[in-house]
Amino acid sequence: MTLATINPATGATEVLVEPHAPDEVFSRIDEAAAAARELQSTTFDQRARWMHAAADILTDQAEGLGELITVEMGKPIHQSIAEVHKSAKVMRYYADHAETFLADSPLEDPGVVGASRAWTRYEPLGVVLAVMPWNYPIWQVIRFAAPALMAGNSGLLKHASNVPQAALFLDTLFERAGFPVGSFRALLIGGAEVAGVLADPRVKAVTLTGSEAAGRSVASIAGDHIKKSVLELGGSDPFIVMPSADITTAAATAVRARINNNGQSCIAGKRFIVHSKVYDEFAAAFAEQMSALVIGDPLDPATEVGPLATEAGRNSLVELVDDAVHKGAEVLAGGFAPDREGFFYAPTILAGLNDSMRVVQEETFGPVASLYRAEDAEAALRIANQTSFGLSSSVWTSDPEEQAWFLQGLDAGAVFINGMTISYQELPFGGVKRSGYGRELAAAGIREFCNLKAVWAA
Ligand code: NAP
Repeated sequence: MTLATINPATGATEVLVEPHAPDEVFSRIDEAAAAARELQSTTFDQRARWMHAAADILTDQAEGLGELITVEMGKPIHQSIAEVHKSAKVMRYYADHAETFLADSPLEDPGVVGASRAWTRYEPLGVVLAVMPWNYPIWQVIRFAAPALMAGNSGLLKHASNVPQAALFLDTLFERAGFPVGSFRALLIGGAEVAGVLADPRVKAVTLTGSEAAGRSVASIAGDHIKKSVLELGGSDPFIVMPSADITTAAATAVRARINNNGQSCIAGKRFIVHSKVYDEFAAAFAEQMSALVIGDPLDPATEVGPLATEAGRNSLVELVDDAVHKGAEVLAGGFAPDREGFFYAPTILAGLNDSMRVVQEETFGPVASLYRAEDAEAALRIANQTSFGLSSSVWTSDPEEQAWFLQGLDAGAVFINGMTISYQELPFGGVKRSGYGRELAAAGIREFCNLKAVWAA
């Protein structure tokens, strides 16, 4: 197992990081367990002060940290800096709201259960392991860590092997802000070592954001040990456009939805399902704008689409597009890897798809859009629900009946009406079907790793 920063824009190995030996992993779990005990006796106010201090560190270092993100995983620099600021924001959000979200809740009429007083309270579980992906190397981790620590848990991070410098930054962040030593620790290990950590009795629960394969493996290990798990897995979100929509806005938003983060976002619109009455108009505008995007060095502020994060990721995308093209798909934009160093792929639109093509079922984790024609709302909904994923969805229509139809019928953790899916700290985030289970963000996110204790008093 190699932990390395390989600059996706050049393919050059920039930094190699030595993995932790088993005894180092053991002592880090010990530190986290000790910190969890210590955190349980701290107040919300104290933790909030530390959390705000950690947010200040992110804000102060946003430019440098943004550059680090871009060098490690290739997203355009302005998006990397925005990721850092968004992470600081969610830290402040949980610092300010954790106490309310986790407040005791009394039973209004305790007599119905034969008690003089009865109530529920939230208590932290202890050490929680987070297995995290590279696509938002700071945000994904922080949106777990901020609520977990504010609830009084401690965290262990197993970050993706291609973002070790982000892992090292996060390893010390909370301690630097004043949290007890060990409150949040990175484990520099590979996926194979996760089983041993999760089996450790000091570790109480796990959250994983990543692929279906990793989720299946980690959740079954957690199941073996009867430990709580939350899974945030892949998505192949539908973006449905009906005739009453503002097609110009829908097409421009479709481009942003598909190419944000160089197309490597779980909640990106990936399948664009367009009513036949407006299909030609939408397809023309979408193809024109996807073809005009500026591909280039992600450190250059003018760049709109940078490289994919890894060579393997780029190769998977090439295979998916080639499979569809060999089986008769039409290419409306892109469809090739530009002839340059690094792991680039051109923004692409595939149309004329049929069920024999892998792209119909599998997630395209890069700037590749699938375009479908639907004869009516029923057909649009059927296509939208035909994958095994159910993360989010976006529906463009000004007809209230159609909005209600899609809202009711879409198998997804979220529906965005006349807008693209974005994660907001105030809204719960998570999926159904093979996109996973459990929720992050909002009040639901901080309650995932708590024991909801019922209290009954005679
Ligand atoms: P990945 O290969 O599953 O990696 C994610 C994390 O899991 C990494 O830390 C990885 O470590 C680890 N891992 C992989 N296999 C494992 C195993 N068998 N046991 C334990 N840990 C294992 O996924 P990825 O390629 O990095 O990320 C892309 C996927 O994540 C996409 O499907 C995307 O949609 C999904 N995603 C979902 C969300 C969401 O919130 N729903 C958000 C972002 C991304 P190594 O790097 O060491 O292999």
